[in-house]
Amino acid sequence: MLKPLLNAPKESRVLAVVVVTLLVQVLVLSLFGLAALRGQVASQESDLREISGLVLERNLVDEMAGRVESARERATVGISELSVDVPRLDPLLGSRVRSIVEQEGVYVRAFLLDAKGGWYDARQRVLRPADRAVQVGSPATENPFEAFEEGPDPAIDLERVRSLAGRSDERFRPWSLRLIARLARAAGRDEEAFTAWGAICREHPTTLDTLVFPPVAFGPQAARLAAELRVARLEAGTAGPADVILDLVRLREILSVNLFQLDEERRRWEEARFEALVTRAHPRLDVTERVQLADAVRAVRETEDAFVILREGIGTLLGRVARGDIEGGVRVTAAAAGGPELVHAVPVRGPGGVTGAVVFQVDVAGIRTGVLPDVLAGLPLPDGVAATVRTADGKPVAGPAPVESAVLARTRMGEALPFWHAVVFLEDQGRLERRIGNARLLIYGVMALSIAGMLAAAWFLLRTVRRELRTAEMKSDFLSNVTHELKTPLTSIRMFVETLEEGRVKDEGERQEYLGVISREAERLSGLIQRVLDLARFEGGRKTSLRLRETDTGSLLRDTAEIFRRRLTGEDTSVRVEIPDGLPSTEMDPEAIREAVLNLLSNAEKYGGKTIRLSATAADGALAIEIADDGIGISEAEQSRIFTKFYRSEDTLARKVEGSGLGLALVAEIVGAHGGRVDVTSRPGEGSRFTISLPVTGEGS
Ligand code: ADP
Repeated sequence: MLKPLLNAPKESRVLAVVVVTLLVQVLVLSLFGLAALRGQVASQESDLREISGLVLERNLVDEMAGRVESARERATVGISELSVDVPRLDPLLGSRVRSIVEQEGVYVRAFLLDAKGGWYDARQRVLRPADRAVQVGSPATENPFEAFEEGPDPAIDLERVRSLAGRSDERFRPWSLRLIARLARAAGRDEEAFTAWGAICREHPTTLDTLVFPPVAFGPQAARLAAELRVARLEAGTAGPADVILDLVRLREILSVNLFQLDEERRRWEEARFEALVTRAHPRLDVTERVQLADAVRAVRETEDAFVILREGIGTLLGRVARGDIEGGVRVTAAAAGGPELVHAVPVRGPGGVTGAVVFQVDVAGIRTGVLPDVLAGLPLPDGVAATVRTADGKPVAGPAPVESAVLARTRMGEALPFWHAVVFLEDQGRLERRIGNARLLIYGVMALSIAGMLAAAWFLLRTVRRELRTAEMKSDFLSNVTHELKTPLTSIRMFVETLEEGRVKDEGERQEYLGVISREAERLSGLIQRVLDLARFEGGRKTSLRLRETDTGSLLRDTAEIFRRRLTGEDTSVRVEIPDGLPSTEMDPEAIREAVLNLLSNAEKYGGKTIRLSATAADGALAIEIADDGIGISEAEQSRIFTKFYRSEDTLARKVEGSGLGLALVAEIVGAHGGRVDVTSRPGEGSRFTISLPVTGEGS
């Protein structure tokens, strides 16, 4: 492959070296470009990671921590300001707890815990005042109502029992109330019985009746009997549905708070009785009231469930807060079936120290469905990056679930919501890769274009160099031709002049012939010189060198044909002239056009034409002059080159004819200066046809 290059001209070799150097440069630059691109993408990705990490930390983790933690701080302050006794259920404590739950918006409910681990709900109903039951029945004091327990005799005087209740120890009140209720009921004084059962419900819902074994709380029985009285009155039309609903709900609550005291069997029995009461009440309730009752019962059950979960998960810790072992508000988490549970436990102080704790249950489900999606959607993340929150083992909590490879940054949700993780990820993972792909494509494109451009330039340069070389070659050909053409007539002129000078020619006829030769040769000589001069004059299609005149084209062409005929040397060459009358006259340089037509006619003769035809037509504001011959013709490849200066055909037949390669170039220049053009159609061996087209300016003559 190198060999032809080494043999090539110097210019081509230089060019080859330049092209190869440029190619190498383009390749090296492109490689650098690709490397830089990869670096840029990598740094873009790390920027994205950094920004996303920051947004996650500041706008999500800190924001959520702010909401939850500030609620805890305010709750701690709000509760520690008070000095109350939890078991006595100070109304101040109840309303403070309620307002904290309502205002903070992150708590779903709150419980109260006494120092002994008894629990109450935030609505201030006693749920398990464990301390009272323990004291009852102590051997020091005898329960005066024990005697009536065998089944109250209706004959017992209610007034006596009342006065006994008034005098006896406060601790025996549930027994006295129960006795009063039973006696009143037996006496048909339902209203009084109802009041006594109600008092037990309010004051001693979980107090254990230690006179029976195993001990049973007073509450469920009192609530059931009170509710039964209410339902009976509803049926009798003396009580309204609102009161009945209230009592049924209370009954359900008392069952709920005795959750850990009633044995399973008793509990189920009580629950069945409760259901029976609801069924009895139903026909007297309208649809709205039934829904109201069902909703209230559901709310009781939910609170019950929540406490069961908390007690199982974090009971000990909460107990420690309630006993004062742990200072300040603490957060405690527990795993539960429906998702993690989180509470803020705040100790409650009374005059003598810690009396219990308030346990605020964080609304984890609410945060998940109501708060997180909005916060996530409002994160100022870069385009194409999204955030999501999920559990430690990757289950989505809020937001979409990304594939692991698209994750840009991750962080724990902090102490506030310790069971969750926040993650930012690329929404469309292929985007970065596509961007690299596109840029790579661009670089490849630029590379290909540069290479193509360079190759084109090289080809173009090579062609120009070749042309120049050929022109140089043609010029030297021209020189030798012209020298020859100049020398030949000069030699014969000199020879004939010398002969005449020596006076050796005596015969007048011979002398005339010599003089004729001298004159013809001189004409040929001046013709050649004229052509060179004309070419210089018209070169570049210069219009200014034209001597324009309104010319009758028909007579110009006829004259030209006549001149050519006279110059013809060969006997066997015929010239046919087909110039129609009425050709338009037009502005032109008649001498120049005549020169051009004569050139074409003499070429027709020189290159083997035996029948030469000169014709002209006018149409559409243009004049077409045609010179056709039946000579050797011109090959297709050469047809475009013959109008080039100094160009002479390579054809051996044509080479035999003497010439300078200037004739057709001159024709093209002259016609071009007139704003026209010259064309050729030809086939080797069949002759050629040259057509000069000129624009017409004048009228037909
Ligand atoms: P010259 O005739 O002096 O060589 P020209 O410029 O008149 O120069 O012509 C250029 C070339 O075109 C010629 O060398 C010849 O090969 C070719 N040529 C011109 N006219 C004809 C023709 N009528 N028939 C065949 N070849 C022609």
